[in-house]
Amino acid sequence: MKMSNLYLPTLKETPAEAEVPSHQLMLRAGMMRTLTAGIYTYLPLGWRVIRKVEDIVRQAMNESGAQELLMPIIHTAELWKESGRWEKFGPLMIKFQDRKGRDYCLGPTHEEVITALVRGEIRSYKDLPVNLYQIQTKVRDEIRPRFGVMRGREFIMKDAYSFDRDYEGLDRSYRAMYDAYMKAFTNCGLEVRAVEADTGAMGGSESHEFMVLAEVGEDRIAFCDSCSYAANVEKAVAGEREVSGSEEMKEMEEVHTPGQKTIEEVSEFLGVDPAKTIKSLALLADGEPVLVLVAGDDQLNEVKLANYLAANELTPVADEDFEKYFSSTPGFIGPVGLEGIRVLADLRVKDIVNGVAGANKTDYHLINVNPGRDFIVDEYLDLRIVKEGDPCPKCDGKLEIKSGIEVGHIFKLGTKYSESMEATYLDENGKEQFIVMGCYGIGISRLVAAAIEQNHDEKGIIWPKAIAPYQVIILALGDDEEVVKVTEELYQELTARGVETLLDDRKERPGVKFNDADLIGIPLRITVGARSLKNNTIEARVRRTGEEIQLELENTVDKIIEILDRIE
Ligand code: ATP
Ligand code: MG
Repeated sequence: MKMSNLYLPTLKETPAEAEVPSHQLMLRAGMMRTLTAGIYTYLPLGWRVIRKVEDIVRQAMNESGAQELLMPIIHTAELWKESGRWEKFGPLMIKFQDRKGRDYCLGPTHEEVITALVRGEIRSYKDLPVNLYQIQTKVRDEIRPRFGVMRGREFIMKDAYSFDRDYEGLDRSYRAMYDAYMKAFTNCGLEVRAVEADTGAMGGSESHEFMVLAEVGEDRIAFCDSCSYAANVEKAVAGEREVSGSEEMKEMEEVHTPGQKTIEEVSEFLGVDPAKTIKSLALLADGEPVLVLVAGDDQLNEVKLANYLAANELTPVADEDFEKYFSSTPGFIGPVGLEGIRVLADLRVKDIVNGVAGANKTDYHLINVNPGRDFIVDEYLDLRIVKEGDPCPKCDGKLEIKSGIEVGHIFKLGTKYSESMEATYLDENGKEQFIVMGCYGIGISRLVAAAIEQNHDEKGIIWPKAIAPYQVIILALGDDEEVVKVTEELYQELTARGVETLLDDRKERPGVKFNDADLIGIPLRITVGARSLKNNTIEARVRRTGEEIQLELENTVDKIIEILDRIE
């Protein structure tokens, strides 16, 4: 492609709307433009990258035996009501009516549509297993669209759905997807870590997320520093911490703690270690009051709690409702003497001896509080967010916490949708069985942003070769006749040899050309200027390493291809 013809509106300044490098660079490099928050047009350069990623993903999917199809973006409300998700998906779904007043939504995901499809067509065990996928635009009215295509309201996803006779079959389908995903990400030139993921309140037996580690990632991941344990913090469990020594239980006492409400204030005021205070959280789980206790130096993991309670919604009790639900007072709530309330506690609370808790009375706390003696916990379970340095649950190592961008997600669904939507098959004995399902997503457009987060410098993008929009960019410096001739020849020959090549033949200053080449991140740059041509040489420069190579003008294209072959 000649850049004089390319629709490539690069920007010198960083647009104010963009906070993170990938978003800034996608705008500056002329890859995309914003229509409105979370909704974008892909310009030619950006679209080429998207298509490359799609092709790599498509190939890995096809090799795994999955088959591509294309489902509609417009879904009927009836289908979503059948699965029970019309309400559950809530405001994340864009809903509308047609001229006859019938309800529809724009598909945020396709379990309903695919299940409705196969239930009409898969009849016998002989039709299974099957894995069907599509690459398509999804619509989710995200509460906080941000970081450009990283969290869009309209985005491109590859979604696959597997159908098996039984759970062993599902295990095989799941494994095949896991391997296909690893291959696809590696082939895109990305470094991706698979981590255990939460399966949610709705069951599902196993799930992994594929994470690109990056500072701007919205997910937090716990890694063991010595074994392979890695899990989303939503799901991560820590090993037992050592409990130091044994201490005699002392008599419980009420102390005056005027205005001291938070754990920090109370532990400072009383001079006790926050780990010895009991943090009491008054919550409503789908409207039911529950008191949740964690050690003062821990944070409640709401995902774990919601899963355990099978609750859709957890909300803190408003100050004015404390009296009504808990006969207590905000800032001074505690488990001692609270009646008729379900009390759940994290396992670490069990080890607290002579702890501190709210006295359920304004401006008072209790000291020397002991679980079991002074109050009863209905259920102890793992409810805390793991922290950097916590023991690994699998070995003697310690957990580290890093940020990651979720680019893929695989999930064993089991019979959740086949039961609610009655997708069955007849087994060898003619008996009706529910189809066992899995679902598998890759965020194609998010992956492009994640690739930029992992591969850029202060000058611009550094594309991994596999997903670069072009592999080589030739800069023609000046309009010297010889320069025009040599660059044109190189361009024609490289293109004929199958190398995707850009020729910067624009009437621009060299500085502009150098900057744009760096900004759009083409892996190999070839510079041709009148001065070096006099010495019969041109210059090659590798974008990633900055390595510069002088090439004599002889078998030049072979030499360029050789250099290109060793670039990642
Ligand atoms: P997140 O937790 O980031 O909101 P999710 O878990 O809801 O994502 P899935 O339903 O698992 O997303 O979708 C499959 C994949 O689609 C995700 O792994 C992610 O890569 C991509 N994806 C999901 N939501 C968005 C979005 N709003 N913008 C871009 N990509 C997205
Ligand atoms: Mg997910």
